[in-house]
Amino acid sequence: MPETKFRSFRVEAVVLRHSDYGEADRLLTLYTRQLGKTRALAKGARKIASRKAGHIEPFTHVKLQLAKGRDMLILTQADTVDAYQPLREDLILTSHASYVMELLDRFTYEDATEHPSTFRLLTDTLSRLASKSDPWLVIRYYEMRLLDHLGFRPQLFECANCGREIKAEDQYFSFSAGGVICPRCGPGLPNLHAISVAALKYLRHFQRSSYAEATRAKPGRDVQQETETLMQGYFTYLLERELNTPGFLKKIKE
Ligand SMILES: [Zn+2]
Repeated sequence: MPETKFRSFRVEAVVLRHSDYGEADRLLTLYTRQLGKTRALAKGARKIASRKAGHIEPFTHVKLQLAKGRDMLILTQADTVDAYQPLREDLILTSHASYVMELLDRFTYEDATEHPSTFRLLTDTLSRLASKSDPWLVIRYYEMRLLDHLGFRPQLFECANCGREIKAEDQYFSFSAGGVICPRCGPGLPNLHAISVAALKYLRHFQRSSYAEATRAKPGRDVQQETETLMQGYFTYLLERELNTPGFLKKIKE
């Protein structure tokens, strides 16, 4: 429960997911600009005549009035800012938007702290997907920025083992070291993944460019596949490592 002076307050939020609660209610998991991830109860949201229901579907950008209940925040009013309608009319886009929600949901916990830049990244990413930009580019850019926000920015310019500058040649990537390993260090180290010079070029481009600059990237299908596989492997590794950290589990359970 966030520490605020008022019993009732407004937040700007994206609905990450919802689940049924009791007979007629819905429990919302929200990512808000003002409080980061938080949960709120939408009473009566499953009743057919509910006026709130349409506003609280996953990946909707909303303005919400929340009230402090006895042990939970209660939704009292909801207004849609953007429903990102195109994301609901195309199954491929729906799955991309779901991935965006899931990644943020899995790597964050309720800390009652404002995260305006992460919130902005989230709404920008949904807008880009809804405007039919290349989903591969939108998602890779989101992943790279999210790693920054989460404190897992990968080291792509110096070897994560010896610190020497990375040259334009095929390299290795180490999930545990959190970055690229040069061909000199690679052969002696366990659990490395090969990364081509082309794939590394795009990852670096996304790490240091604005989105407008990033859209100039036009990699071939094989490089797209390579970067996608590598990034998903890295996220999976980070998630498993975090889940095995007692402090992280405790935060999630709170
Ligand atoms: Zn090295």
